[in-house]
Amino acid sequence: MEFSVPQERKLVTELPGPKSLALQERRVKSVSRGAGTLANIYMDHGAGAVLVDVDGNQLIDLGCGIGVTTIGHAHPDVAAAVSAQVAKLTHTLFTVTPYENYVRVAEKLAEITPGDFEKHSILVNSGAEAVENAVKIARKYTGRRAIVSLDHAFHGRTNLTMAMTYRPWPERAGMGPFPGELYSVPISYPYRDGLSGEEAAAKTIDYIVTHIGASEVAAFFAEPIQGDGGIIIPAPGYFAAIKAFCEKNGIVFVADEIQAGIGRTGTWYSIEHHGVVPDLITSAKGIAGGLPLAAVTGRAEIMDAVQPGGIGGTFGGNPVSTAAALAVFELIERDGLLAEAQRVEAALRARIGDWAERFPVVGEVRGKGAMFGVELVRPGTKDPNPEALTAVLKHATSNGVIPLDAGSWDSVLRIMPSVVISEALIDDAASVLEEALAKL
Ligand SMILES: *Cc1c(COP(=O)(O)O)cnc(C)c1O
Repeated sequence: MEFSVPQERKLVTELPGPKSLALQERRVKSVSRGAGTLANIYMDHGAGAVLVDVDGNQLIDLGCGIGVTTIGHAHPDVAAAVSAQVAKLTHTLFTVTPYENYVRVAEKLAEITPGDFEKHSILVNSGAEAVENAVKIARKYTGRRAIVSLDHAFHGRTNLTMAMTYRPWPERAGMGPFPGELYSVPISYPYRDGLSGEEAAAKTIDYIVTHIGASEVAAFFAEPIQGDGGIIIPAPGYFAAIKAFCEKNGIVFVADEIQAGIGRTGTWYSIEHHGVVPDLITSAKGIAGGLPLAAVTGRAEIMDAVQPGGIGGTFGGNPVSTAAALAVFELIERDGLLAEAQRVEAALRARIGDWAERFPVVGEVRGKGAMFGVELVRPGTKDPNPEALTAVLKHATSNGVIPLDAGSWDSVLRIMPSVVISEALIDDAASVLEEALAKL
């Protein structure tokens, strides 16, 4: 594939450069400190897996703005679809007078989500809004109130979804009160608990039964591969056992695929790696090439339990975002991007898969597709090592590589590049990260 920016790292100033520093000075005078940033390097444009900052430096993007630009930055097909749509019609509000793009996205979601049954969707603006709607829909369908989410989960930053999110700092601290009937339950975390999927599921289920009561639970929410929690992949068999428990007890199983879905892990949805068919799925981040769009998709009888007017919103599924999503779906199929994610997985495994043997601060390297985590520990232990992560991120970002942080203890290096990233870029970025790991 041809890119408008050469796919290579190239530094022409120190990082952050002078123009970034000047912008940063303005920013602290006008932008809330609460919107914290990983690196104060201001971006101007991008293509594929490379970002170009305001000083002309070319950086390797290993984060995709948290898993959003999976298909690469500023893809010309998405740009063309958006430009055409923006000149034609930008808004009517689907719930006033509808339009075809919304219906087409819903049709496509029914096709690509797992499950051989009739599926309906609602489109909204953000991941958190999708999770909120899934909660409403599951409660309405079951007539129950309790909502279960997993330890280390991230489900969003609105009042309801922040309360479903695991860690207090920085996501929740000081920002309550929170809604009731939300419960965090033990997850399967193979690196730390050493349990099989079945054993971990038994623990989760026992917690639900003894603390909440199975018949009280409306929905069980899970990221099939946790993103912000630190790329935690529950052990094989875990979700199958949980799903069986949910079926037996009339609990709606919701896969929050906002980060791991839409092709990032080499399948359309990451729950496919666990061989489980969810009742509802939330999609967002990677769905529209960077435009705001999110969805709840699931069993028609559950999705239709809500009365007309009970869910919706002004901008949800707007004509421009849905045009972008349709372009993304087409690209994933036309360019074989699920296979590309598998290629990235193989390249990452070959290049960084042995880090736990080579670097004492690396506890484990794990991942699927273009979604990897490197768990950093104090040498000789499994104690989290957040200082090591800070040092790695500082070295990486000042050398033109942008990975992400993750983990409840801020000790997991998260690597989520575009699926179009080349082996050469992976190799170069890995070398920069290795310099940092070797210094620790
Ligand atoms: C990012 C994320 C959300 C929240 O999405 P926003 O668009 O930021 O509201 C919810 N769930 C998961 C798994 C996410 O990664």
